[in-house]
Amino acid sequence: MAELAQAEGRPAAEIALAVGGETEYVIVIPESPTTQEQKAAEELQQWLGELTGAEFAILSDAEPARAKEISVGRTSRLAAANLAVAKKDLGDEGYAIAVKGNRLYLIGGKRRGPIYAAFAFMEEGLGCRWYAPEVSRVLRRPSVRVRVVPRSYVPPLAIRDPQAYFDATWSLRNRTNSGRDHVPEKWGGHINYALFVHTFNTLVPPSQYFEEHPEYYSEHNGKRDTRQLCLTNPEVVKIATQTALRSLKERPNAEIISVSQNDGGGYCQCPKCLVLDEAEGSHAAQLIHFVNQVAAGIEKEYPDVLISTLAYMWSIKVPKTLRPRQNVVIRLATDTCMWRRPFVSVRNDEGPVPRAASWGLAEAPNKLSFKKFFLGWCKVTDNISIWDYWTNFAHYPAPTPNMEVVADNIRFFTEHKVGGIFGESEGADREAMKNWVETKLLWDPSRNVRELMKDFIWGYYGRAAPAIARYNDLLGSIRKGFPDVREMHSWTPPSGRGTDYLSQEFLDGATVLFNEAERMADNEEILHRVERDRLSIMYVKLMHGPEFVIERDEDYPALIDRFETIARRENITQMSIVSGRRTLDETLKLWRDEWRELQ
Ligand SMILES: [Zn+2]
Repeated sequence: MAELAQAEGRPAAEIALAVGGETEYVIVIPESPTTQEQKAAEELQQWLGELTGAEFAILSDAEPARAKEISVGRTSRLAAANLAVAKKDLGDEGYAIAVKGNRLYLIGGKRRGPIYAAFAFMEEGLGCRWYAPEVSRVLRRPSVRVRVVPRSYVPPLAIRDPQAYFDATWSLRNRTNSGRDHVPEKWGGHINYALFVHTFNTLVPPSQYFEEHPEYYSEHNGKRDTRQLCLTNPEVVKIATQTALRSLKERPNAEIISVSQNDGGGYCQCPKCLVLDEAEGSHAAQLIHFVNQVAAGIEKEYPDVLISTLAYMWSIKVPKTLRPRQNVVIRLATDTCMWRRPFVSVRNDEGPVPRAASWGLAEAPNKLSFKKFFLGWCKVTDNISIWDYWTNFAHYPAPTPNMEVVADNIRFFTEHKVGGIFGESEGADREAMKNWVETKLLWDPSRNVRELMKDFIWGYYGRAAPAIARYNDLLGSIRKGFPDVREMHSWTPPSGRGTDYLSQEFLDGATVLFNEAERMADNEEILHRVERDRLSIMYVKLMHGPEFVIERDEDYPALIDRFETIARRENITQMSIVSGRRTLDETLKLWRDEWRELQ
């Protein structure tokens, strides 16, 4: 079985972990283990047991040493071994694996490190996989001889959030740390936000203040409205700071609080805000001016908490002289590239920035690009976190072959030392594969995305894998063959078809492959996984309309019914989150209405 790229290096001498379903190995933990060391040992016991059929006992290091041990965490065995790697700073989540004689050492950083050491050993060294919350692949091998590659690794990204599943166990196994995965503190916890994003209305609630104090809110065309806050009003700074402090008090474990603009447009156009912006050549000026003051107020009570603000839409450009304070994180959203050009990575982004004119940016839009904005921020702060977009937001199920771009963005951003990446990816086509591949890339951006997709496909789809692998290749090829694919951006309105970049030839080819995959499926469970992915192709046909489907000798009402059956079984409820947020029910109605009109 191929080891993962990260474990490349000179392997140590072979050890026999199990022979004929029996093992001479025991797992050793400190006499007073941390909860993470305890958890790491239990995971090893469970999965090594599943793998080999052998029982791996967990012993305290107060017991006499044996020849064959897997030492987990800061044991007396580790201290006695005097390994150089044991002195390395592994941060919160880094890990190291070492071998001396017949003893294996799994060492981890302060928080999840020991657990990650265990999973890295099993995944990278023994070929175990945890593809989805309900789908692991641990193939029984009663005899396991392994040549372990000694290594240490600290992930370059402190925040790794692929917006997947919100499942603590899956997150732990695949080393993501989203706040919404709720990994408990005893397993090493997760990134703790006090407030997550778009928080102006939470910080200064319009229901409480707008009537009496419209001047707290943003001005547009001479009128105040609640789209944003008036960011140069000192009272607004005071109220926002108080609310933020209250919120932090309620969440004592919080590491980050978001003080960030509401979604949508509408920077304040009052004279005071505009004077500041004009002097600084960017509407981010009013924002940074405001956030810095709130951040200074928070720092007095919470010196270790970071204040996250968005550079997004109108606040994307770095101001000329204003700089974010050292406790402010700039969460840079890639909207100006990825909404328009989802198949162009930021590294290759040459613009233009479509709404630059309406944001009052002096440069011609075609001389601007998200890449330039990003590099601008990199020059003025070390605290950058990324909000990337990984889904077709107008057509969730549409086939979206963007994994190479996702991978290249992660690589590009980590090359520039960003601290975290969040990928907005809800509802994506082939969601299970994308979720897993994304976790691997966020952990180690050097991983090969094509190899990862292959790994998932051959491990997840059973005997249907060959057909699904060919479908994946077919999808990859449409990016090369159809330059117009650039037009399928995430804001394509659902009323226009928006999926025309997929040729009839592609749809026919994909249909043949899915028929084959369904025929080959080992059992109902695998069949369901195939059908879940097939929704993409059915969706495109149905969006083309009844005539298109009938021309292909398919039964239009039956196709709608089948789509509905699969979508309901898979708990899919949303087809789009733009232009009115189209639900499954609304989409089914749209299709059935079209059929009725045709009768
Ligand atoms: Zn203002």
